[in-house]
Amino acid sequence: MKNNIIDNLILTAKNEYCKELEELSPAELHECLGRAMMGEITEKWAKAKKNHANSRRAYYFSAEFLMGRMMYNNLYAMGVLDQVKKLLADKGIDINVFEEIDDAALGNGGLGRLAACFLDSAATQDVPLDGYGIRYKYGLFKQSIEDGFQVERADDWQSFGDPWCIRRNEDTVIVKFADQVVKAVPYDMAVIGYGTDNINTLRLWEAEALNDFDFLQFNDSHYDAAVQDKNDAENITKVLYPNDNQYEGKVLRLKQQYFFCSASLQDIIKRYKAKYGNDYSNFANHCAIQLNDTHPVISIPELIRLLELDGLSFDAAFDIAQKTFAYTNHTVMSEALEKWDINLLTDVIPDVVEIIKNIDARLVADLTAKGLNVPVECECACAKADAKKEKEPVKTKLDGMRIIDGNLVHMARLAVYASSYTNGVAWIHTEILKDDVLKDWYAIYPERFQNKTNGVTQRRWLGLCNPQLSELISDKIGTKWVRNLDELSKLNDKIDEDLVKQFNAIKLEKKQELADYIAKHDGVQLDPNFIFDIQVKRLHEYKRQLLNAFSIMAIYFRLKEGKLPNFTPTAFIFGAKAAPGYARAKAIIKYINEIAKLVNNDPDVNDKLRVVFVANYNVSYAEKIMPAADISEQISTAGTEASGTGNMKFMINGAVTLGTFDGANVEIVQQAGEENNYIFGARVEEINELKNNYDPKAIYEANPEIKKVIDTLIDGRFTDGGNKTGEGSFAELRQSILEGASWHQPDHYFILRDLPDYIDAKLKANTDYKDRIAFGTKCLKNTANSGTFSSDRTILQYAKELWKLM
Ligand SMILES: *Cc1c(COP(=O)(O)O)cnc(C)c1O
Repeated sequence: MKNNIIDNLILTAKNEYCKELEELSPAELHECLGRAMMGEITEKWAKAKKNHANSRRAYYFSAEFLMGRMMYNNLYAMGVLDQVKKLLADKGIDINVFEEIDDAALGNGGLGRLAACFLDSAATQDVPLDGYGIRYKYGLFKQSIEDGFQVERADDWQSFGDPWCIRRNEDTVIVKFADQVVKAVPYDMAVIGYGTDNINTLRLWEAEALNDFDFLQFNDSHYDAAVQDKNDAENITKVLYPNDNQYEGKVLRLKQQYFFCSASLQDIIKRYKAKYGNDYSNFANHCAIQLNDTHPVISIPELIRLLELDGLSFDAAFDIAQKTFAYTNHTVMSEALEKWDINLLTDVIPDVVEIIKNIDARLVADLTAKGLNVPVECECACAKADAKKEKEPVKTKLDGMRIIDGNLVHMARLAVYASSYTNGVAWIHTEILKDDVLKDWYAIYPERFQNKTNGVTQRRWLGLCNPQLSELISDKIGTKWVRNLDELSKLNDKIDEDLVKQFNAIKLEKKQELADYIAKHDGVQLDPNFIFDIQVKRLHEYKRQLLNAFSIMAIYFRLKEGKLPNFTPTAFIFGAKAAPGYARAKAIIKYINEIAKLVNNDPDVNDKLRVVFVANYNVSYAEKIMPAADISEQISTAGTEASGTGNMKFMINGAVTLGTFDGANVEIVQQAGEENNYIFGARVEEINELKNNYDPKAIYEANPEIKKVIDTLIDGRFTDGGNKTGEGSFAELRQSILEGASWHQPDHYFILRDLPDYIDAKLKANTDYKDRIAFGTKCLKNTANSGTFSSDRTILQYAKELWKLM
């Protein structure tokens, strides 16, 4: 098999480029090796497709798939990574050349990466799950840091070629908008399972014009008009919107969503009809469709529309849709919940709006029948206050649940009402959905709510990115963990001083590798004997990178004042992209870089403290970072991070979590023990109390250390590129904490509430680290108890409990 790949590779190089292997550029080599590998799997892929056609199956609809670099992953999945590495080396080629090939970043962060982990796990666990999404021409922007500021560049990932995708012209479908008709052309990517012959498919759609080029117009010298259609069509899948946890109510975004949903449903229906003809009675038995957040929720009315076109009544079509779809909620933050303006929807997809109106009418009828068309006040005592409110229309319980609420179409409400299940992505998140965000819905449809705690694939996030630790684990407990991560618990009995020393040696090696890479990539020198304390994730106020930055300033001042004589030297490492339109997030990046400049150049502290903000954090960078962390920073305000998955990647690789009681941190600590992690800060209940009674300014006034730290934003020591004395973006950051802004309360994310606890927890970890055996034991306990955070576990739960595939 391995020799086949190399023989194929040599042949492909000759056929495609008329070159010997040694003459190929990295991009050419990547293309040829990729094609050679695809040649290897053709038959298995075809066979798997046939198998799936004959069983109940599931589809994962997602606007994002953050796949990362595929070459190493696919070699690993095929079980030939080491052999191919050696065979290439024999030809004088270093397999690391593929690091020059960029990742396909068709996603923003956790949500898109989850979709990618699910595909890997489903393929490996023989779950017949295929993905549907968008083949963006430009993925998430590339980030560089210039003078401390984020600078964005387009991500032209296709310029490196795409050997993994096959264009399937024969499966092209047409998608119609009110003002535009386009072709949807599918590209299929093979998703190769590990240790199985099963191969699943990720089908990504590209928009093209019906007619690329209008010759009549061209002959009339209307050059621009001649290519107008082409450009308008291609614009639909031109670029990924770079917002994470932030809704973007733009026409083009809506077109993207509808485009891939309609194309995917037409595709599924076509496949169904080939087997069952026009009888739809078996449709909901034939497949389940999972909606990854509300981005693909427009699928629900679209499926109803398509079925009606084929002769079904609304009621029959609704019934099928409701049985077919299930919805995953990914956020409780209101700014991220999609609410489309109904006029905008009507301008773009009027026929679908008619269906949404029918669904809303059905909801009203259903809830009225359940007795919910009653004034909200009646819930408690009874309508005593009604007298004075006579002039106002009485608000009913039902009003607050309408899918069409005023001018807005609430996509989450549509999803909960017109699907079979709604799931949250970590225990605490699902509890918040049930008690708070969707509590009215939970009261009526409790049986529809489930929890499915997220996971990550251990193939990429341990096997591939940390071969040293993988080997140590396999030496101790065998290799079954690669397909069953629960096996890791067997390590618990084997943890002794000797094993911890081996673990610590590997951690040091991974830290050295990361330090070398950071030196090369970001130009900052780090000593691997420092603690590596790492926060990498999208830049968002709720994730509180600013809290981390403030704690570093507090430590800096204490060190300067000689108050921390026993401080263990620490490198604070950040990586994060800010949405280009998110000014406050960008100001936080600049602030961290100003701190880095101060600290790293101050000889009083720089033998104990280093700060680095690495540029262009992405999946490939994450693969270098996760194995090298001693401390994983997971410090979101309690109740804001739905799950997090970065926290799981760190845990598997043996880092302790310094975090709040939020998202999956709760379950991480439950598995690994509170004594092996550092939990601090207000819990959800306290945060909810504080929402009505919080005075950050009082904390600021009462605590001189906090005051000094916050005032670094305006005391003239840093520059934000604007006015040093306090009118620039740093002053705005400070003001958002002390005064708030029109759209939010002061210190909306409770940074000042948590800062003292956080510093204490951080310094506790800093002291504990000195006992290398005790600390290494904590790290290993995390690895040993991380089994449940495999996305294999998650996907099997989806398959059994939501999709009923097994
Ligand atoms: C895992 C991952 C994320 C998600 O990180 P969180 O800490 O869970 O927000 C984001 N971006 C990349 C590149 C990742 O690999």
